[in-house]
Amino acid sequence: MTATSPKTEICDAIHARQRFLITSHAKPDGDSIGSQLAMAYALEVLGKDVRIVNADPAPEHYLEFPGVARIEIAREIRERAGDEALIVMESSDLKRTGVAGLEGRFTVNIDHHQGNTGFGRVNWIDESAAACGEMVFDLIEALGVPLTIEIATHVYLAILTDTGSFHYSNITPKTFDICRRLTEAGVNPAAMARRVFDQNSFGKLKLIGALLDEMDLLDGGRLAAMYLNDDILNATGTTYNDTEGLINLPLTAREIRAVVFFKLGADGDIHVSMRSKYDVDVRAVAARHGGGGHKNAAGFKLRGRLNAVRDGVLTEVAGAIALGQR
Ligand code: 5GP
Ligand code: MN
Repeated sequence: MTATSPKTEICDAIHARQRFLITSHAKPDGDSIGSQLAMAYALEVLGKDVRIVNADPAPEHYLEFPGVARIEIAREIRERAGDEALIVMESSDLKRTGVAGLEGRFTVNIDHHQGNTGFGRVNWIDESAAACGEMVFDLIEALGVPLTIEIATHVYLAILTDTGSFHYSNITPKTFDICRRLTEAGVNPAAMARRVFDQNSFGKLKLIGALLDEMDLLDGGRLAAMYLNDDILNATGTTYNDTEGLINLPLTAREIRAVVFFKLGADGDIHVSMRSKYDVDVRAVAARHGGGGHKNAAGFKLRGRLNAVRDGVLTEVAGAIALGQR
């Protein structure tokens, strides 16, 4: 007897159930939004009842994508439908959803990150997937659900954003095969690129200017450090959500091998985001601090004053650059 694959187990679980609660990590990005909504639309084609609950709203420019407005924003779920199954996308553990009260349900865990704790009843973790959306595409195909324009749009959103607009090393022939199918289903790649990447407000342009102005260049120009605090946001009339994607800007400089973006939250936490090129492994740095991600895109949270923690982090990333050069 061959062992049942997680994907098949998930299909069986979906066919056997009626009500679904979908969630993903706090501060959702394009892959979390796209994966959740593609899944929701597919479940609805199958006649299922679906709700989506996220701890934080989607970045503003995703609000006009189909279904994004229906995502409920809540930090806790109190009520509980008896047979409701939970589908969690892109979260190393339940805590990363930022939504309390999810425990105790039949849980499907779908992720493409290393370091997932396997908290589900069914766990499907595929680190080779360029986006969680690629896995959702496979699942939808296995469920026999046709690619509606809403589903295709959200899978494309997931892949477009999680590959950094087809820049990252996690892209495979399969990525393009899926995108070909999505394009055949009616997705317009040029229009999607404009909707996702050319949505800056004037405030965001000023934010970009301010962040780059105060950027530090270190390690002989191979490492860039950027800093976000409430003063910069207030001065430019922007919010935390406006910072999405900005970490990639320094990477466009030829010499830069890695970028560290320190974001100071009002709660006193510092969220450290990192991006790198080639063989520079920033996930290893994140993992040492209890965070995670991928080789070229990872993050973690720190407590403490920026001045006290900054140099240590930058030294570690410089070390990762040195390792990656070998
Ligand atoms: P970002 O820098 O955009 O917040 O995240 C980059 C990558 O690192 C994403 O794949 C994200 O899931 C992961 N990541 C960021 N912060 C954390 C964290 O605190 N914990 C874990 N496990 N992963 C994180
Ligand atoms: Mn992802």
